[in-house]
Amino acid sequence: MDLSKQRKVELLSGRSDWYLEAIPERSLPAIMMTDGPHGLRKVESESLIDIAGSAPATCFPTAAGLGATWDPALVREIGEAIGREARASGVSVVLGPGVNIKRHPRCGRNFEYYSEDPLISGVLAAAFINGVQLNGVGTSLKHFAVNNQEADRMVVDAVVDERTLREIYLPAFETAIARAHPWTVMCAYNRVNGPYCSEHHWLLTEVLRDEWGFDGLVVSDWGAVNDRVAGVKAGLDLEMPGGSGAYDPSVLAALDDGSLRTAELDACVERVIGLAERATSAVAAIPPPGPDPETGAATFDADAHHALARRAASASTVLLHNYDHVLPIDPGAHVAVIGGFAEKPRYQGAGSSGVKPTRLDSPLEELRAIARPAGGRVTYAPGYEADAGERPDLIDDAVAIARNAELAVVFAGLPPRWESEGFDRDHLRLPYQHDQLIRAVAAANPQTIVVLSNGGPVLMPWVDDVPGIVEAYLGGQAMGGGIADVLYGLAEPGGRLAETFPNRQADVPSDAWFPGSGRQVQYREGLYVGYRWFESADADVLFPFGHGLSYTTFEVGEPALSAAAIDAGDQTTVTVDVTNTGGRAGSEVLQVYVRPVSSPIARPERELRDFAKVHLQPGERARVQCTLGPRAFSHWDVDTGAWQIVDGEYEILVGTSSRDIRGVLPLKIRSDFAPATNPDDPYRNPFPDGWTVSDEAFTALLRHPIPEPDPIRPFHRNSTLGDLGDSPAGRPLLTVARAIAARATAKMDSEGGIAVMVDRVLQEAPLRSLSTMSKGRFSLKALDRSIRALNAVSGRSGRRRRPPRG
Ligand code: BGC
Repeated sequence: MDLSKQRKVELLSGRSDWYLEAIPERSLPAIMMTDGPHGLRKVESESLIDIAGSAPATCFPTAAGLGATWDPALVREIGEAIGREARASGVSVVLGPGVNIKRHPRCGRNFEYYSEDPLISGVLAAAFINGVQLNGVGTSLKHFAVNNQEADRMVVDAVVDERTLREIYLPAFETAIARAHPWTVMCAYNRVNGPYCSEHHWLLTEVLRDEWGFDGLVVSDWGAVNDRVAGVKAGLDLEMPGGSGAYDPSVLAALDDGSLRTAELDACVERVIGLAERATSAVAAIPPPGPDPETGAATFDADAHHALARRAASASTVLLHNYDHVLPIDPGAHVAVIGGFAEKPRYQGAGSSGVKPTRLDSPLEELRAIARPAGGRVTYAPGYEADAGERPDLIDDAVAIARNAELAVVFAGLPPRWESEGFDRDHLRLPYQHDQLIRAVAAANPQTIVVLSNGGPVLMPWVDDVPGIVEAYLGGQAMGGGIADVLYGLAEPGGRLAETFPNRQADVPSDAWFPGSGRQVQYREGLYVGYRWFESADADVLFPFGHGLSYTTFEVGEPALSAAAIDAGDQTTVTVDVTNTGGRAGSEVLQVYVRPVSSPIARPERELRDFAKVHLQPGERARVQCTLGPRAFSHWDVDTGAWQIVDGEYEILVGTSSRDIRGVLPLKIRSDFAPATNPDDPYRNPFPDGWTVSDEAFTALLRHPIPEPDPIRPFHRNSTLGDLGDSPAGRPLLTVARAIAARATAKMDSEGGIAVMVDRVLQEAPLRSLSTMSKGRFSLKALDRSIRALNAVSGRSGRRRRPPRG
């Protein structure tokens, strides 16, 4: 390579927060990466922290809502629209989609992820990527891997057994890569079984490139780099944000002393150059959208994108309850609309995915716009304050208008401070004021409908008190119109849950081990995530995975299989007719689960293996085909290190939720593979004595002892500012840093989510980030000196963190 050693090392990190280095030696400009994933967050000031100060872009429903569509065609359309906006804005790579699995509904960032199931996540991510990349704009599939919580995300070690990794946490990435070839993959902040993802050779090279054939670039999550030399060796091509050069000296030193080979450096540099070339030639080959008739510049059709966002918002809503057909509402009725979210919707989550919308629908105004011409009446009472403090007087006002109306619609949900990137939810409850409001309104008017705005499951202690419940998720800038359309029946509620709603937080299989402690999180529940657990344990849920009602009715015919017996490695096809037997257009989602009937190894009772969404006019019938390839029957066999199919009987379950099975088809699979079985396998039948996973059981699953969490003293580069705050010497530092951050966010944050996030991120940030975030002004060398001084003052025998719960 004709570049100097110094120059190559420069190319390993970006030029600034969002730009890569220009490469004039190859006539390549500096390309820009921008968040993602539900709209463009192009930060004009180039400041990382200025989350609110970005250029207006269409804010589509968040991934939680899009996951509930089960509709790859729609998700692809949204990807195309975001790709057009990126092209019009000169952005080369959109940082998304996110395909981390919703291991626990408390994860604060679940709104950015699609599902608790890897198949839906992978299929929808592929659709999104294909849509964006059609425009000559790349994507970044994130966060690779096992980033399933926000607590301690920059330092936590996820301890997961190999089979669970392969069957639950990695397949969504694998599917998206195989089906859509994202230009880049973003590595996660956390560690997985020891190494940081940013220096994980097994993840970044052996699995991602060697096994899956990924041919793009791996970029670090912003600030995820720990040891840059180890990162280069592991296959981490690009460090972001750039501009600090903090790690350059260590890379140059490693080249000089031979611990890093030139070939290893060149492999990363070539991929950085390759991305710039790809972006540049795509722009040359694919014409931009627009042009604007007045300026001639590339532009996008904001009205059309808003209309798409509105359609997507309706498609993301899940009708959970609809007793006595309380919905849809007659537009001529008198409706009491209650709840501040009706006036000021909660339509997206806080953090790096926050989009400044091109416009924002108010649900209240949209409801009025439909009711007014039909002679309907809409009255309104706020019911609660934005911060959800207790206000009995607001409940009284709401009850008064509910009493006088034919129906009441209560907009409730989670305040922004409760759910965000950067921290997890404390519990699954709604604010007390919201629960009280719903109860009081339902007591005053039995025709009460609840519309929920939240990024993940909430508990519903009032579930039997109201006839109608609509889960609207965080539905983007056109959510107001999308919800109004659904409530008045101009659009159908098209969603089906892509996650289980539990009755109680303690029912969540990972609850006892989430989010861990002592910088370690143990995935003791193994494969039993979400419905895989609830179905295996036959446990009650509030609403099952896959559930969602329609305004019309469907008849699901007798399903048929293309063969009653197959050889391992063959595929089979399920065919089923679906008829819309009601009086309205609507969509149904056919879900195909596989159940191993007599498995010699531990397996979840059923697993989703294919699905299809059909849109049907009244009376229309469609023949749906789903395909089950070899992977649908396989498990990851740790002994052979490969996917294997066990000989025996299987059942194919065709249904409309994990609980609502309409047809069962037997299938025999002939296979020579005989797994090594362990009659004492603690995961074989873990339910009769309740859900406890002992140290012995988890050790057996891991096939090695449970690792000891790292000590926090003496302090080191990965000690956090929060750790320092525990010491007399570090406390003033943390206090000053928090005060500075609070002042900065107060200026930009009207709703509070960002302020809480920044405060938490600050406390959980490893000390090494001080160097990168100060753009190298505080060098790693200076940091190391300060750490030595701190340790000298604090003494070496400091306390360790509490060991993780077991
Ligand atoms: C987030 C990423 C995001 C990046 C850039 C990180 O904190 O985890 O998802 O793309 O910041 O904003």
